[in-house]
Amino acid sequence: MPTILSYHYNICSSVKWTIGGIELTGKHAIIVGAGVTGLSTAYHLKRMGYGEVTLLEKDSVGAGSSSRAAGISTGLLWSKTGVLARKTALRFFRQFSSEFDGYSFHNEHGCLGLFNPELWPAREALLPLYEEYDVPYQILSPQEMRRRWPQLNPRADQTGLLDPLGGYSEPDAYLPALTARVRSLGVKLIKNCVVHELLTAGDRVTGVRTAAGVIEADAVVVTNYAWILPLLATSGIAIPAKTFVHQRYVSKPLRAQLQIPPVNADPYLGYVRPADGNRVLIGAETPDRDDWKVRDFGFQLTEIEDDPRVLPDVLARFGDFVPALAEAEWETRKVGLLSFSMDGEPIIGPFGGVENLYVGVCFHSGGFSYNPASGFYLAEFVAKGKTSIDLTAFSPDRFSAAETADYLASTVPQRNAARRRH
Ligand SMILES: Cc1cc2nc3c(=O)[nH]c(=O)nc-3n(C[C@H](O)[C@H](O)[C@H](O)COP(=O)(O)OP(=O)(O)OC[C@H]3O[C@@H](n4cnc5c(N)ncnc54)[C@H](O)[C@@H]3O)c2cc1C
Repeated sequence: MPTILSYHYNICSSVKWTIGGIELTGKHAIIVGAGVTGLSTAYHLKRMGYGEVTLLEKDSVGAGSSSRAAGISTGLLWSKTGVLARKTALRFFRQFSSEFDGYSFHNEHGCLGLFNPELWPAREALLPLYEEYDVPYQILSPQEMRRRWPQLNPRADQTGLLDPLGGYSEPDAYLPALTARVRSLGVKLIKNCVVHELLTAGDRVTGVRTAAGVIEADAVVVTNYAWILPLLATSGIAIPAKTFVHQRYVSKPLRAQLQIPPVNADPYLGYVRPADGNRVLIGAETPDRDDWKVRDFGFQLTEIEDDPRVLPDVLARFGDFVPALAEAEWETRKVGLLSFSMDGEPIIGPFGGVENLYVGVCFHSGGFSYNPASGFYLAEFVAKGKTSIDLTAFSPDRFSAAETADYLASTVPQRNAARRRH
């Protein structure tokens, strides 16, 4: 006789499993926010054999910044923890390319960083870090960049730093592929479900309150990015997080075949990459815009206006470097928010004073790039109580209450926030 396996999901209690008539209670994790970080956490939790995983999303999958990302990824970061985490992320992107239907990581050219004489010394100082952790890189002269990619035209004083393992993902392919995989692993994904409150008993989180009622859980993982502050405030927690407007544009198909790598180009305050269908994607920051304050869960990214000056400005800056941009006609624009912490590094992990509560936010301009690893480490925290690398540098507890309060009370123009690209 086959074993009868069924479960009853009760919105007011933990998940109950019934196997052959015997009722078992499995561990239940709630993840708040179905962007790439939440989806990735759900994926890894199930892959680690965790009991029941419920992913709650206030709108639809990708309603946050994830669907707006340029998806550029490099492993050449600026701290030991970042370098190790990205190494893991790039490994997972390659694995997902063969595991997920309809998704491929674009690693055809690697990922190029462009530097001018003013910016290069700070990056050059990081090369020993890459060597120590066995992260490959190549330094390219302007002549070498032109030889490899004749459609790039760097200036004589610029330096290229190529990450041969880097590349990009098309979010429009990645998000549905990851969502399908997460569902196939048995994650319960509930859309149009706003989490209004984190519920606590003593010094531990016990679940969340939604419009439909209370859902209890053994662990709550908050991955709601730009909406983090109002949610944490419901349990009296603050972190020094700021959000900044960011936008990117995709052209119509170009007439000539485009053969360039994805380029993070700090001298031009932006980035450029090929996009599906022989299109080109270009993105830029808006240094003069003040941080954008998200005060409630009703806020949607579609409310943010694109500043019409950004596209002509970024094209003017990039025009000499990528002459093919001159013939581009622009088809789509996406505007979203980037979330930065006070020190420019992500905030990933448990809170010292509140058991069972985990957070994964503030990925700067690189949350897409981090996601396979940020989800992995969050899942490790929940399922195993520890991570396979030391994540102390990303701990939510690294900021004092006083500096957090000062930072949150301030208004910061984006030009004063640390520049950390992808
Ligand atoms: C224009 C642009 C270009 C970018 N380019 C890159 C790039 O090239 N490379 C890179 O690595 N990164 C890039 N980024 C950054 C990247 O998009 C983000 O860091 C990343 O998508 C964050 O993912 P997330 O899942 O943490 O957040 P999100 O995708 O924002 O997901 C959070 C989710 O939480 C939901 N939510 C919020 N509050 C609640 C609630 N109370 N209850 C239930 N659900 C809730 C939201 O609806 C949302 O779906 C870019 C961002 C922008 C805007």
